[in-house]
Amino acid sequence: EPIVQLEKVHKHYRMGAVVVEALRGVSFTLQPGEYLSIMGPSGCGKSTLLNVLGCLDRPTSGRYLLGGRDVSQLDDDALSVIRGTRLGFVFQSYNLIPQLTVVENIEIPLFYQGWPEELSRQQARQMAERVGLGHRLNHRPFELSGGQQQRVAIARALVNDPLVILADEPTGNLDSVSGREVLDLFDQLHAQGKTLILVTHDPTVAERAGRILRMRDGQVESDEQRRPAPHTP
Ligand code: ADP
Ligand code: ADP
Repeated sequence: EPIVQLEKVHKHYRMGAVVVEALRGVSFTLQPGEYLSIMGPSGCGKSTLLNVLGCLDRPTSGRYLLGGRDVSQLDDDALSVIRGTRLGFVFQSYNLIPQLTVVENIEIPLFYQGWPEELSRQQARQMAERVGLGHRLNHRPFELSGGQQQRVAIARALVNDPLVILADEPTGNLDSVSGREVLDLFDQLHAQGKTLILVTHDPTVAERAGRILRMRDGQVESDEQRRPAPHTP
């Protein structure tokens, strides 16, 4: 069963008398374990598509099935639960809480789910180790490099074992060396079977994914399989 299934998704923004058609009939499916990048020029609808995929916004019409469940008509509260339990987010600007330590930042999604303290700490430690920050548990974000901060954000995105990890220009603020480290980490996660969607305008970043979806004027211009999709049961 696909993890993500979009069927003829439209998204319109009304600005006074003008209607902007940010998405115009976007359809694609993503199988478990796929690594997809979404690219295209500024204004083509990438952010809008990511907001729909990330349950931050609803399609105007069309269907979105996430893990087999139709989430296109859910209310804000239900979408917020889906975001907290089924999705992991990585942003260009890391979005860490400066007052919290590495391990505390990673724990945030578990805190909102009411995990017991001990279990949550243990899980967050494991995630920190997984992204190579096991020795930085009690540091605060300002004591870390940009690449390390982004790895904390990735650990936080992983901690609730989401169906999909959504990354929006994850290397946008990083120098090329740290950017490469972050992309290497995505490769590792992909090899471990994680399902990843990466939005970028940078072709060299997009090319790291096995599949590239190119957007243009709110539509899918091309959907290129660069490497064989992983075998799925
Ligand atoms: P991209 O991320 O590829 O730059 P966006 O999804 O941000 O593209 O934008 C797609 C189109 O929708 C653009 O024409 C943009 O101006 C418009 N748009 C995006 N968000 C809004 C909004 N909240 N209100 C009105 N128009 C919007
Ligand atoms: P672009 O598509 O040009 O790369 P961004 O992805 O940075 O632009 O996002 C476009 C706008 O949408 C920005 O103003 C940003 O603040 C806002 N935005 C991006 N992601 C989110 C999000 N997850 N939640 C709320 N707003 C967002």
